Amino acid sequence: MRILVTGGSGFIGSAVIRTLIANTEHAVVNFDKLTYASTEGSVAEAAQSDRYAFVQGDVCDSDAVVNAMQSHEIEAVMHLAAESHVDRSIEGPGAFMQTNIMGTYTMLEASRACGIERFHHVSTDEVFGSLAMDSPAFTEQTPYDPRSPYSASKAASDHLVRAWGETYDLDVVVTNCSNNYGPFHFPEKLIPLVTLRALAGESLPVYGTGENVRDWLYVDDHARALTKVIESGRAGETYNIGGESERTNLEVVHAICDLVDELAGALDQVPSRRDLITFVADRPGHDLRYAIDQSKIASELSWRPEQTFEQGLRRTVHWYLQNEDWWGPLVEQKATARRGLAQ
Ligand code: NAD
Repeated sequence: MRILVTGGSGFIGSAVIRTLIANTEHAVVNFDKLTYASTEGSVAEAAQSDRYAFVQGDVCDSDAVVNAMQSHEIEAVMHLAAESHVDRSIEGPGAFMQTNIMGTYTMLEASRACGIERFHHVSTDEVFGSLAMDSPAFTEQTPYDPRSPYSASKAASDHLVRAWGETYDLDVVVTNCSNNYGPFHFPEKLIPLVTLRALAGESLPVYGTGENVRDWLYVDDHARALTKVIESGRAGETYNIGGESERTNLEVVHAICDLVDELAGALDQVPSRRDLITFVADRPGHDLRYAIDQSKIASELSWRPEQTFEQGLRRTVHWYLQNEDWWGPLVEQKATARRGLAQ
């Protein structure tokens, strides 16, 4: 297939492109606006392939999308481009409505106009809302109950995709996935943020009491699942994807502290990086727990995560310790922006 991957320079999109180029024969066009969240270097190796092309463009720009689809004779779309950070969606929801909702609408209309044979929409388990500690995990039938501007915008986009499948007979598949982690994760997200602050010996902010539970999936396992779904998922279906690794935020932060202590050595005068943890005021509308029942993708597409959380986290922390060239400038940009705001 000739696949247009939107958001292919982001955290998950770049893992998808690395997987498609390394493990399949598909040709890939990466369509990305290159916002602050794009990760330079994350597709550098894949870009060497003659099956890879890049188009800089906005998913809200219909002409640019249609032009990319037509000039590259695209057959299938994997739609990942989105604004993805919950805290940013609380501070400024506008960009989330524009990119996540109107961008998906534009992609669907362009797909219809260009005769796209399969539209795979990549979404999140956050659309299902918040689970009690003893509730069963989310299934594909769980009603939507989004509670942040981010998850509401993703829920809206999921509804658009299913409506275009029903109304216009577009071949659509939707995947709803739990929290990803791994290399090339932008340093504003929990695992890289805590890793880098722990490395620098800075305080480690944890929302509330750290009791919120997330299910964690190693990003390459997600990319493998997405590849199976675009290739073999049934038209009109939804697949939940999870990591079989529910952890409280505090457990995640403790595990990172211990790994950084082990891999980078102890700090002067701080016996354990766990001592750097500070509890901060909780995020408004902070969902208590997400958990995924992934029996459908396991039985239909024979997919299961390969990495345990312990293996994946060790690989991830190790990668950050080895790749300051990648994250150093991003952290510096953020510090400069913060200094600018303070003046
Ligand atoms: P990300 O923020 O790391 O990357 C998003 C990419 O999209 C960036 O490269 C950015 O430049 C691009 N982009 C943003 N706006 C664009 C626009 N208007 N036009 C074209 N490109 C644009 O996001 P991610 O974490 O890789 O997430 C990818 C997708 O997976 C999103 O749809 C997200 O909702 C979903 N998802 C993420 C997670 C997670 O844990 N990160 C979990 C489940 C689902």
